[in-house]
Amino acid sequence: MKRPLRTTSLFTQAFPNSSDWLLMHCPICEGSSTNLHSAYALEADSRDRKSDPEGFSEHGELYGIPSAGIAEGWRRGAVVLEFDCENDHRFSLRFQQHKGATFVIVEEAAS
Ligand SMILES: [Zn+2]
Repeated sequence: MKRPLRTTSLFTQAFPNSSDWLLMHCPICEGSSTNLHSAYALEADSRDRKSDPEGFSEHGELYGIPSAGIAEGWRRGAVVLEFDCENDHRFSLRFQQHKGATFVIVEEAAS
């Protein structure tokens, strides 16, 4: 079951004298040893009559990556990146499109 996570300390400055790189921390334990696990897209929720046609996959892909489900309750699609923390946590960063804006949603992911 996914649950939203605290995002205030998700990223820190990677090096003291450079703001070009950010270091990602696990939103569950704050550890900085994280590894990319998977990437997939979520399609717009077709139950909403106002769903944007751009939110649906073409040949199983949306935004050029495989679609793996529905962005329930959203009229546009999303891209999800899942990460494994080396302390046995899995979490996701979801880039959800909505009315010309991109929301970043951080959730615990099933491992
Ligand atoms: Zn962790």
